[in-house]
Amino acid sequence: MNIFKKVAIVVTGLLMLPIAFNAPSYAADEDFITIGTGGITGVYYPVGGAICRLVNKNRKEHGLRCTVESTGASVFNANAIGAGDLTMGIVQSDTQYYAYEGKEGFAKANKDLRVLFSLYAEAFTLVARDDAKINSFKDLVGKRVNIGDPGSGNRSTMLLLMNEYKFTPKTFSLATDLKPAEMAGALCDNKIDAYVYVVGHPNGSIKEAATTCNSHVVPVEGAEVDTFLKKYAFYPKATIPAGMYKGTDKNVNTFGPRATIMASSKLSDTVAYETVKAVFENFDEFKKLHPALETLTKEEMLTGNTAPFHPGAIKYFKEAGLMK
Ligand code: GLU
Repeated sequence: MNIFKKVAIVVTGLLMLPIAFNAPSYAADEDFITIGTGGITGVYYPVGGAICRLVNKNRKEHGLRCTVESTGASVFNANAIGAGDLTMGIVQSDTQYYAYEGKEGFAKANKDLRVLFSLYAEAFTLVARDDAKINSFKDLVGKRVNIGDPGSGNRSTMLLLMNEYKFTPKTFSLATDLKPAEMAGALCDNKIDAYVYVVGHPNGSIKEAATTCNSHVVPVEGAEVDTFLKKYAFYPKATIPAGMYKGTDKNVNTFGPRATIMASSKLSDTVAYETVKAVFENFDEFKKLHPALETLTKEEMLTGNTAPFHPGAIKYFKEAGLMK
């Protein structure tokens, strides 16, 4: 064989190597994944970090680099995915529905939103100072209440429940829009009487409130809640276990959406597939990365969604026998 031909064969062979082994069919600017999470005292932030850790573990295979961003949470994340500012984002299942359908604060339907998988159940959590004498949602009348920061799913679920009780921000003597990281501090500094947080458990915010001052988690149940849950079928009932937080010695009944992770339909199948695969193939490790993930099952991670799954996620689920 002539030497030029030999060189040509070797060169072609080398060029083909990555294609043969990795088939990385995503655009060059897709190798950086940014996951939008929530406030750093919530659960989205560490769980986003757990997902990235597993994606980054396989970097040699796929070349992807994953980082998290602390954001205003669900509503912000859904909008930012739509605008192409985030690759992925953690979004409450109720916000997912509103964003996809263009309801409740979303002016336009975003039909490009796609689901990668669901995560743990969140609980609508009402935390109050003991001295504020708040033992039910109704007791919030006339109190100083943090209803959530704009951009959070927290606030959007709170506004919906307030509607059911015929409450407006004027029902409270003060309605604040503090960020999650500020809520426990404001409660313990006696700037507010209560705050709501739609969040997984345990989390840093409620722990901070429970250990810094006398506070407790208040049940959110009763006739109005039952009517609300009938109207909005995607909020299962939830229980915050007794003893999880200082000051809360009984199980606390409430309800809540599920946390989900979403991307745009414009994201390549390869990036979606590799992200889902990294979590599902390292599942035992994933569950150990945050206590809110401890009891999660792979099967439930395919439930509770309104928007369609991303084709890259479907590819993995079929391969793994989780979907027909
Ligand atoms: N569910 C909250 C929201 O979307 C965020 C909770 C968290 O950061 O863990 O506003």
